[in-house]
Amino acid sequence: MFEFSLSTEFLSPDGIREMHTKMLRKHLSFCKERSPFYRELLAGFDVENMTVDDVAQLPFTCKEDVVRDYRKFVCCPQEEIRDIVFTSGSTGTPSRFVYTLEDLLRNTYNEERCYKIAGVTPQDTILLTCTMDRCFIAGLAYYTGGVKAGAAVLRNGLASLESHLWIIAETSPSVLVGIASFLVKLAEHARKEGVSLECVKRIVCVGEPIKNNDLSFNGIGRRLQDLFPHAQLFATYASTEITTSFSECEFHQGGHIPADLAYAEIVDEEGKSVPPGEIGEVVVTPFGITGMPLVRFRTGDMSFMIQGQCKCGRCLPRLGPIVGRKKHLLKYKGTSIYPQVIFNTVAAIAGVDNYYVTAKGSDLSDEITVYVSVTDPSVTAETIRAKLLVTCRAHIPVEIVSPQETARMVFGQSRKPQHFFDMRTH
Ligand SMILES: [Zn+2]
Repeated sequence: MFEFSLSTEFLSPDGIREMHTKMLRKHLSFCKERSPFYRELLAGFDVENMTVDDVAQLPFTCKEDVVRDYRKFVCCPQEEIRDIVFTSGSTGTPSRFVYTLEDLLRNTYNEERCYKIAGVTPQDTILLTCTMDRCFIAGLAYYTGGVKAGAAVLRNGLASLESHLWIIAETSPSVLVGIASFLVKLAEHARKEGVSLECVKRIVCVGEPIKNNDLSFNGIGRRLQDLFPHAQLFATYASTEITTSFSECEFHQGGHIPADLAYAEIVDEEGKSVPPGEIGEVVVTPFGITGMPLVRFRTGDMSFMIQGQCKCGRCLPRLGPIVGRKKHLLKYKGTSIYPQVIFNTVAAIAGVDNYYVTAKGSDLSDEITVYVSVTDPSVTAETIRAKLLVTCRAHIPVEIVSPQETARMVFGQSRKPQHFFDMRTH
């Protein structure tokens, strides 16, 4: 089980449906048998005979269900638990997740696949710039998946820019894994220090979107590509709950969703499925998990499906870039804006060091303020406001603050940079 195979990658549309149905039946039967939560929730469903077309009949699972009592989701005895993590909890209460040995092997396969479809081979050396510890499950998988893909892997984690540059100069890694905004800082520092980054051929971008809806680079993606002109950037999407990476192939046409690991849907406000291309909430049923499996998990992330065969020949479903978090949608002077649009705009401006956005208010309109620190003093609040007027079609207040202030806010609270602070009370 969980072996990378080209026959799974290149299944026909019928083969994908068969795979989905096979995995779904096994998954639902397991959940119903082992999980107290799903024993109750799936009581009236004949799960052994369901097909993938029947998924829409099943109830959703929300993050709140897991936060309320994670124990109801645990399907294994204590002696089978091998890893315990907490979700980043950038908003609300962090939730606990447990993984069995089988789950860790599944995660390894999941990331091995992510590297392989991005063209990583045993000739490559991968430098990880994200943490492996701090109860972060993906960091571990970036390591074990890279090892399984046959590459040499450097675990330099959340180290200083100087430390990463020293390692780059010493080992010439061909692959970087990290958060785009951090890698931009790393590359700018490398330029200043005269360290060449030409060795880097591939960058696996994790944790924040680098693409616009039309699959062109967003602000941070464009800056990163300009700083690494010799590298291909790969967008990925994953989370602790879904423990599956939707990652790009070398044609960069959306994140391929592995048929043997997950089934994904896009639903509207009422929970009804929406057609490809239409934006809605991403709902994922990850297969083959034995510690804390989930059924139709509402991720809270907004995106869309991309229809048709990819240029690489895969017929696997593809997910577009994440447009924003559902609950972060801002109502501002009659316009609806995702903070992600503000991030994309501000991050694209050369000379911007860092930024964060706050939202306050308790009635129908939110009060938004964008705080920006700059490295180039010619970038003023007025120039940023003018750019935001174009992308958000609204006059949004901008304040220039010190780099210490943005660093304190953005990196102070969580292992992932946090650019949005929601203080709304409604
Ligand atoms: Zn492809």
